Amino acid sequence: FSSSTEFLLPIFSFSASISVCYEMASHVVGYPRMGPKRELKFALESFWDKKSSAEDLQKVAADLRSAIWKQMAAAGIKYIPSNTFSYYDQVLDATSMLGAVPPRYSWNGGEIGFDTYFSMARGNASVPAMEMTKWFDTNYHFIVPELGPDVNFSYASHKAVDEYKEAKALGVDTVPVLVGPVSYLLLSKPAKGVEKSFSLLSLLPKILPIYKEVISELKAAGASWIQFDEPTLILDLDSHQLQAFTAAYADLESTLSGLNVLIETYFADLTAVAYKTLVGLKGVTAYGMDLVRGTQTIDLVKSNFPKGKYLFAGVVDGRNIWANDLASSLSTLQQLEAVVGKDKLVVSTSCSLLHTAVDLVNETKLDDEIKSWLAFAAQKVIEVNALAKALAGQKDEAFFVANAAAQASRKSSPRVTNEAVQKAAAALKGSDHRRVTNVSARLDAQQKKLNLPVLPTTTIGSFPQTLELRRVRREFKANKISEDEYVKAIKEEIKKVVDLQEELDIDVLVHGEPERNDMVEYFGEQLSGFAFTVNGWVQSYGSRCVKPPIIYGDVSRPKPMTVFWSSTAQSMTQRPMKGMLTGPVTILNWSFVRNDQPRFETCYQIALAIKDEVEDLEKAGINVIQIDEAALREGLPLRKSEHAFYLKWAVHSFRITNCGVQDTTQIHTHMCYSNFNDIIHSIIDMDADVITIENSRSDEKLLSVFREGVKYGAGIGPGVYDIHSPRIPSTEEIADRINKMLAVLETNILWVNPDCGLKTRKYAEVKPALNNMVAAAKLLRTQL
Ligand code: GLN
Ligand code: ZN
Repeated sequence: FSSSTEFLLPIFSFSASISVCYEMASHVVGYPRMGPKRELKFALESFWDKKSSAEDLQKVAADLRSAIWKQMAAAGIKYIPSNTFSYYDQVLDATSMLGAVPPRYSWNGGEIGFDTYFSMARGNASVPAMEMTKWFDTNYHFIVPELGPDVNFSYASHKAVDEYKEAKALGVDTVPVLVGPVSYLLLSKPAKGVEKSFSLLSLLPKILPIYKEVISELKAAGASWIQFDEPTLILDLDSHQLQAFTAAYADLESTLSGLNVLIETYFADLTAVAYKTLVGLKGVTAYGMDLVRGTQTIDLVKSNFPKGKYLFAGVVDGRNIWANDLASSLSTLQQLEAVVGKDKLVVSTSCSLLHTAVDLVNETKLDDEIKSWLAFAAQKVIEVNALAKALAGQKDEAFFVANAAAQASRKSSPRVTNEAVQKAAAALKGSDHRRVTNVSARLDAQQKKLNLPVLPTTTIGSFPQTLELRRVRREFKANKISEDEYVKAIKEEIKKVVDLQEELDIDVLVHGEPERNDMVEYFGEQLSGFAFTVNGWVQSYGSRCVKPPIIYGDVSRPKPMTVFWSSTAQSMTQRPMKGMLTGPVTILNWSFVRNDQPRFETCYQIALAIKDEVEDLEKAGINVIQIDEAALREGLPLRKSEHAFYLKWAVHSFRITNCGVQDTTQIHTHMCYSNFNDIIHSIIDMDADVITIENSRSDEKLLSVFREGVKYGAGIGPGVYDIHSPRIPSTEEIADRINKMLAVLETNILWVNPDCGLKTRKYAEVKPALNNMVAAAKLLRTQL
């Protein structure tokens, strides 16, 4: 059979010629930029550290782009995106394209270079960075444009055109992607000093001329398609905002003529009015819709889809790592084909693949069974094309059979199902779980036991993680040091942290979390139903990536996870030692969650596992237990109509974890943000005894909630200093902050603590800062 490859060649070209008759139409909304092994991250950081040149960085970037384009072309993708690469963020790229550089970066016009670009992204020695915020409900963060009536827009980055040409030179004709003009404005914020009444959308006539320049250049360079990402279309928009889409594309129509224009939406269903606006846009030939997160959109398509237009059907999930159920997608696509017409249906991803891991090929530690259930970006590209081929009558039977087998194995694998867990979680639905005694009576009972001063001081959990500490953990994981050596090293670290807190005279201590690399991973590794990747990185912001655990099966806790360390720590001190856990909602929101059951069911399962841990800690004599829900708010759905349901099961999950403890056990929770004005009632409904929250960067916002008369009876510790900065706050400054809080909150419920964990800080900063914090609390106690 040595001649088999020669034999294959003619067959290959034969099937290629068939595809002329049956057009396969496949599209990918966008692709991860970091590279399969985070090549871009390392190139960026080395450039920022001045260890490599701009040319070195550009070379890595160009190689990544070229590899991605060629990979998609080889897979058979027809509509391959370009300009989805970014050195930092695609919204910042749009800001550069429009020359909307805030004046503080002293940009002098001309093409924007790395200096100005990275100053906006990260700040420089004299100027802070632009604000960063979450991209819809993903964990990706974009740089928020700052706009006002005086911005002088100019065409200042030719990146979109350059990348189109670069791909073309490599033999790949791409679809250039731009952040759409209306979404760009809707995602921006008024610059400092600009009046509140200023309408960002009023800038539309000023930015459209720049878009026209870009479009004309793309046309001249040979582009036949263009993609505008307008994801804001899935938000709850008012008629004025919807009208802006109509106006913008009507204005662009003549410039766009001769091009096929795709408006891409993603992350949720379109409302009926948004759908109507979208399909009514002038000059537009194609609409991209997320049919994974959007479950109702398909009905809108079926009831009314404009004749002669293309539907880019997002059936392959860009937000997850699960292999597609190809048979089910194919049947959806066939239904859609009957509505929009055979040559007008394009198979696509639900959103950019930016939000999933890059390539399963690099997963050396996952077993074959789990791997067969997964598809990362590279595999999703293949799935998209397989579906397109099947629609065109060239179904790759072997591929579909293998996929069906994997789907079946996932459904029936004993590793996925644990009946006892299923039963226990199902029993929670519909019923309520809360502590019997109300919070003020509980606080009294706890105070009798804990005997804390007013304005008690505490910290959020982690203490600085030194290089030495990280080395110990790494070597233990790699079996380079024994368990005994590891335990000894961690115990010593805990002792150091306990002694330091006693010396500082902090009231409620923590063990410092030296055994934890990450607050979710630490628990995931000890729970059943979780798997971990080695290279499953997803961009969070700039060069930063996260590696979410994969929840593939029913979750249970084989044995206690933190009791040994917490009781060891408690044995070192007479003061109360906080047990430290991550809450179910945060574990859920920071993982890739299984898609074969509703999210709340998985959350309930995690809650039951954490409940076991809470109760074991209590039995071991731990009287204060903190259950972090750092990510509760970020799981809030995009659409307001879905908020209530999410908050109900999320808050319920939290309560499940601690509904079984005695009144004298004090339950703390911690949250990493303070703009919870809109969900304050849900937070109260969590019924924790004490909540510590990030606050120091936005005192006013938080306090206004209470000033407006929200009744808060539980303990509350709004952070008194920012742990994100190396700055050491003075005693007076902290006292001043506490005084402001005392003006709004009852003295006996106020706690004194930093904003968040101290993991990323140095001891040289932490010691004086905590010292001043305790001094401030003591000072105020004398004045009460
Ligand atoms: N207990 C965790 C810590 O102190 C909380 C971290 C967080 O809220 N992100 O590190
Ligand atoms: Zn925090």
